[in-house]
Amino acid sequence: MKIIITGGAGFIASHVADAYIAKGHRVAIIDNLATGFRRNVPKKATFYEADIRDLARMKKIFAREKPEVVNHHAAIAEVVKSLRNPIPTLEVNVLGTTNVLLAFGEYGKGKKKFIFSSTGGAIYGEPKKIPADESTASVPLSPYGLSKSLGEELIKFYARQYGLTYLIFRYPNVYGPRQNPKGEAGVIAIFGGLMKGGESPVIFGDGTKCRDYTYVGDLADANVIALRKGTNITVNLGWGKKISDNMIFAEVARATGFEKKPNYAPYRKGEVYQIALDASRAKKILGWKPAITLREGIERTIREL
Ligand code: NAD
Repeated sequence: MKIIITGGAGFIASHVADAYIAKGHRVAIIDNLATGFRRNVPKKATFYEADIRDLARMKKIFAREKPEVVNHHAAIAEVVKSLRNPIPTLEVNVLGTTNVLLAFGEYGKGKKKFIFSSTGGAIYGEPKKIPADESTASVPLSPYGLSKSLGEELIKFYARQYGLTYLIFRYPNVYGPRQNPKGEAGVIAIFGGLMKGGESPVIFGDGTKCRDYTYVGDLADANVIALRKGTNITVNLGWGKKISDNMIFAEVARATGFEKKPNYAPYRKGEVYQIALDASRAKKILGWKPAITLREGIERTIREL
């Protein structure tokens, strides 16, 4: 298949690109290298250094590539940054997503499927029931979560307009090799980077804040399945397990041989306190479930840092 991956120089989508190429698909990547790196782009992929906010450029690229599938990962994916100044996040994640949909609707070819990386970690806010399933109301606490919720609605609207099919993934906290240890998110990469240099990481809050952590290779597998299965649905991915910051600290310390204690700082506003995702629908409809345990995944991540 001919596939355009946006954000393919970034952490998650570069793994998706590798997985698609390994299956023999033709991949073109669009990325403005805002947080991605040229070195993450697979050699066999065509690379366009371009900004998804530029509709004319998107149309040119799509007219040339005529993809059957778009896997849309390009985004500003930082909660705290979006709280400080929501405009760039909304421009890229809402307007940019609209541009990609318009270009795909006009110039895509064949059955045309749109695959989207939404967030289960930031879209549900603080749900009463954890693990949260897909019927949980969308009550984001940050402009980032809101931008993803709006992205989902845009996809449903343009899917109807253009007769596209779509699959929306709501990701848990994703971790693994190539995650930027200097980013705002990605606590395993951040902790690992600091601990390897002998520095104590900061835990915001008392360490009981919880997330559902899934290894990036498992997410890449889900994106491969998405080429064949899942039509016009939204599915959570994840283990359904709450893992606290203190547990992450202990596991990363174990993997790096770090012996000091963490530094604690006040909670950051807009960050969800506890979340885990019920991924039974992904298992039922896509036949997907995660395979790499937290310990194994952390060891793999630390080896590559
Ligand atoms: P990332 O920052 O590594 O990847 C995002 C990529 O998008 C980068 O390569 C960046 O350069 C590119 N990009 C940003 N703005 C762009 C623009 N205007 N035009 C073109 N390219 C642009 O982040 P990631 O963690 O790999 O996240 C990928 C996707 O998955 C995002 O959509 C994010 O919201 C979603 N997601 C990630 C997580 C997670 O835990 N990492 C969880 C839920 C959802």
